[in-house]
Amino acid sequence: MEKQKQGNACPYAKKCGGCIFSGKAYEEQLKIKQKNVTDLLGKFGKVAPILGAKCPEHYRNKVHGIFGRDRQGNVFTGIYEEKSHRIVPVENCMIEDEKATAILKTLSTMAKQFKLQVYDEDRETGLLRHALIRVGRTTGEIMVVLVLSGPILPSKNNFTKELCRRHPEITTVVLNINDKNTSMVLGNRNIVLYGKGYIEDVLCGLRFRISPSSFYQINSEQTERLYKKAMEFAGLTGKERVIDAYCGIGTIGACAAGKAREVIGVELNRDAVKDAITNAKLNQLKNIRFWNDDAGKFMVNMAANHEQADIVFMDPPRSGSTPEFINSVNTLKPKKVVYVSCDPVTLKRDLELFQQKGWKVKAIQPVDMFPYTGHVETVCLLTRKI
Ligand code: SAH
Repeated sequence: MEKQKQGNACPYAKKCGGCIFSGKAYEEQLKIKQKNVTDLLGKFGKVAPILGAKCPEHYRNKVHGIFGRDRQGNVFTGIYEEKSHRIVPVENCMIEDEKATAILKTLSTMAKQFKLQVYDEDRETGLLRHALIRVGRTTGEIMVVLVLSGPILPSKNNFTKELCRRHPEITTVVLNINDKNTSMVLGNRNIVLYGKGYIEDVLCGLRFRISPSSFYQINSEQTERLYKKAMEFAGLTGKERVIDAYCGIGTIGACAAGKAREVIGVELNRDAVKDAITNAKLNQLKNIRFWNDDAGKFMVNMAANHEQADIVFMDPPRSGSTPEFINSVNTLKPKKVVYVSCDPVTLKRDLELFQQKGWKVKAIQPVDMFPYTGHVETVCLLTRKI
């Protein structure tokens, strides 16, 4: 990596609040994250040097723009100002995929050209709410999800044609209907306007289907390094029964399946589970099954039924796991737990509980999945004290 004295600076950083390290050299950012993780988790053991990104800019494979309108009637896309619902126009974001940024710009000009009304949250009028763009960084497939307040997009065929003419790299266009006055971006209903309605991407040599609402790690390049570390920690030999808890579209479980006897994935989001099942088929993985359930409840049942597991991967959302889940893991007594976390604060809380139950943290590896922002991913290996 090239050594920078100063990092890139973003003119929207203050209002957006996303890139707290705007203007800071990347090396410095890594040092700060290393210190943060060490301050929080150092008491559990040595924190390995953070794995920095080769390309700290334009890494986000998922880009979200909110439609707004200025006084001259021009449509723009932007972000909510931190802690408010005011929309700040953003022309260029230094961490978002550049192709996605270009598509957002086109959507704004096309909104004016097609005379589409921008949604007004206070009055609950207008049509265009958000655009969500997902880019398969390896396959190059691109999905555009237009979130509307109602199911009817006037001149939808011409609109789609024009969008794909201007951006032939788009492989699918989906209308998502969100008619609720909510801060959630996506509603429940999808109408495919063009293409398959999902994209595929390749991660760690495996193919994954990604639907509009499924979770997919936003930094594909760093995810490969994260999963590689997780697999190294698990040290699979081909004999193990593995649980992939909070599995999303089954990426971690799929990586493990080739090296284990059997994999069981559990995930709350139904669409993600559907994707996970398809992904297993896509990759001809016959030893993996998925369950649509709350991970905590699922583990309680596993423990109550005296099921057995050798390795538990867990990758919960930012809020972390639950005592219910951790207690049940403790009952199941796997040989190892590999905990992937996107928030070291909740990770610390959960590790404390594991420790109280007699588990030891053997390795702590931070990975910089989100350069320029304050977020940091960490993967930990836990084993039982004998
Ligand atoms: N391991 C996956 C997903 C991690 S993100 C990957 O690396 O891509 C966390 C996932 O946990 C999301 O898919 C979310 O839908 C799911 N989730 C959130 N709460 C859950 C719960 N209580 N039980 C099971 N899954 C849950």
